[in-house]
Amino acid sequence: MATTTKAAAVSHVGKVRSNNQDSGFAGRQLFVVADGMGGHAGGDVASAIAVTRIRDIDGTQFATAADAETALRTALMAANSVIAETVYEHPELTGMGTTVSAILRVGDTVALAHIGDSRIYLWRDDELIQVTSDHTFVQRLVDSGRITPEEALTHPRRSVLMRVLGDVDAHPEVDTRLLDTRPGDRWLLCSDGLSSYVSEELITRTLAAGLDTYETAEQLVRLSLDHGAPDNVTVVLVDMHDGGVAGSPTLTVGSASAPIAFDSESGRRPVRLPNLLLHPLRVTGVRQTQFEPESDEYLEALIAEDRRRALRRKITWSVGIVIIAIAILIAVIFGYQWTQSRYYVGVTDGTVAIYRGVQQGIGPIPLSSVHEITDVQLDDLGAFYQGQVERTINADSLREAEEIVERLRTDADE
Ligand code: CA
Repeated sequence: MATTTKAAAVSHVGKVRSNNQDSGFAGRQLFVVADGMGGHAGGDVASAIAVTRIRDIDGTQFATAADAETALRTALMAANSVIAETVYEHPELTGMGTTVSAILRVGDTVALAHIGDSRIYLWRDDELIQVTSDHTFVQRLVDSGRITPEEALTHPRRSVLMRVLGDVDAHPEVDTRLLDTRPGDRWLLCSDGLSSYVSEELITRTLAAGLDTYETAEQLVRLSLDHGAPDNVTVVLVDMHDGGVAGSPTLTVGSASAPIAFDSESGRRPVRLPNLLLHPLRVTGVRQTQFEPESDEYLEALIAEDRRRALRRKITWSVGIVIIAIAILIAVIFGYQWTQSRYYVGVTDGTVAIYRGVQQGIGPIPLSSVHEITDVQLDDLGAFYQGQVERTINADSLREAEEIVERLRTDADE
């Protein structure tokens, strides 16, 4: 049976960035997420160009899914050319690029095209499957077994993309594939503003919660906001139904939803003053996505850097542990020396004695020893002094201890 779709697209600038560099599109059969890069200028333009160009194929009738796959690939390559041409006309946008993750449904098949680190997930039978692979440096490290997926989440180079559409590469390598789909499937397309901050477990729970398409998409964006949303976040959710469900209206969100404007007079991008005033400091604090061509030399250099970092970490830890051990040793030595400057008067074998040290010990180790056994017998003392000596009498110095003994002797003689 032919499937129909119901889709929702939601995009949010997030809580830290000053502009939305993401774009999203939910059409009749085409669904796209694009995440632009290029600092203040460019990222929003690149993703808007990509989505605007690619959405042109929505509504086209394809004889086969393979035709759709070809059309999708062609659209991404065309978007790549438009971005390059735009940079040629506006050199201030040099270096701009964008990820693109898109699906195009033809009957019971989905053609998929992907470049960058936005993601496509399929939720089916209560299981979430990531059907795209990130074109990032850290993913390469994970694939080669050098780091774990958990380490990738916090790796300092996690923003390095190795493949994007943009003026950076005339022939970018786009992944495409065909997958079957059926009623009940939920396809989730999202920018890393969702996948980097909300766990897959939480995403799965949200998809399984029984909310409708729009509510679910909105809830996913809200989860990212709850986690601080340091980045723009865009979610396009596509629900597959069996026939008879009315489709949803076509919707473009993010930077592609506004006209792309250039300030051609000065040859510069218009500065978004209100945003800069609102977030004067935050703008620079955001982790900027970087592009590095997928070359073996660069990869080797990064891996070597990673090894050096691991070694530095190990050395820092070792030095730290040695410093702490030395500090503890010094404290113990000084502590012991202090105890040995103290004296007290007590009893040994029925005779009054002066002890050096303190009454307390460390576990089984005593911190005192008999310094001098006097000629005063405990039995010769009055009841009051006997009790005091049995409980021991502290002295700040040997001289004070001797004075105490002198008083006891006087008491014994009486
Ligand atoms: Ca992003």
